[in-house]
Amino acid sequence: MNASFKYIFDKLSTAYPEREARAIARLVLETRFGLTQVDICMGRERTFSLEERRDLENIVKRLSQKEPVQYVLGQADFCGRTFSVAPGVLVPRPETEELTKWIIRDEKESGFSLPCILDIGTGSGCIAITLSQELPQAQVSAIDISPQALAIARENAKRLGAAVDFRQQDVLDSPSKGQDSPLWDIIVSNPPYIPSGDIPGLDASVRDYEPHMALDGGADGLDFYRAICAHWRSVLHPGSRLCFEVGIGQADDVLRLMRSVGFGDLEILPDPAGIPRVVLGDLYQEI
Ligand code: GLN
Repeated sequence: MNASFKYIFDKLSTAYPEREARAIARLVLETRFGLTQVDICMGRERTFSLEERRDLENIVKRLSQKEPVQYVLGQADFCGRTFSVAPGVLVPRPETEELTKWIIRDEKESGFSLPCILDIGTGSGCIAITLSQELPQAQVSAIDISPQALAIARENAKRLGAAVDFRQQDVLDSPSKGQDSPLWDIIVSNPPYIPSGDIPGLDASVRDYEPHMALDGGADGLDFYRAICAHWRSVLHPGSRLCFEVGIGQADDVLRLMRSVGFGDLEILPDPAGIPRVVLGDLYQEI
């Protein structure tokens, strides 16, 4: 086994389960030090300069304190693209890829020509940027309350060459319905959904490092779904689609909430772990 891999793995094995420690060690060596998986498996070594050694020590120290590897490396993969991430934004997660891929598949199948899409609470911009690049005919906008998140999202869009219109806005404020604010064909959101009381019990890597603003969904975790359903329906038209990522055990409540404000054709979709994770529906014609 490669010696640098063993060094990282040994240091991490007290803080992480074995599989995770292996995966993190591999990611660090591949992303930061240019080793391939084959190099690691074949025990191929590479010389580390003094500066690289210090960098590696610092990385291992941060990881041992349970800082997410994506923050330590400054990047995370999402739907086949690499996004910059930093402590001001939630780390993109595989379950959110499902939500995004579903919208892409559905839009490609329906062949709708020019959808206007709004991503509420965009964070790193991973959903909005992926949609904009996979659906080049779509007009994609995204909002977030956090200037720090918007700066990262804009940087990601620029680097990846995506034309997304980012704006600072609090989802809890009603959207203005004016000339420059269109009616959206699709609103997508992965809002904060962890019940406030569950935050202290989260894994340290989430609780101590990720922005609580992007996690805390109020007493029952549903505050943002209620706000979006109440305030943002006014900028949808009959037939517009609302697509939410939801937390564990929230899908039925969110479905009922959407139904109560006039959404139909409601569907619940599972994430890769089989957990009901996406709730979506269309605004009924008669509203
Ligand atoms: N999926 C995240 C977690 O469980 C929460 C993200 C969110 O609140 N939208 O840590």
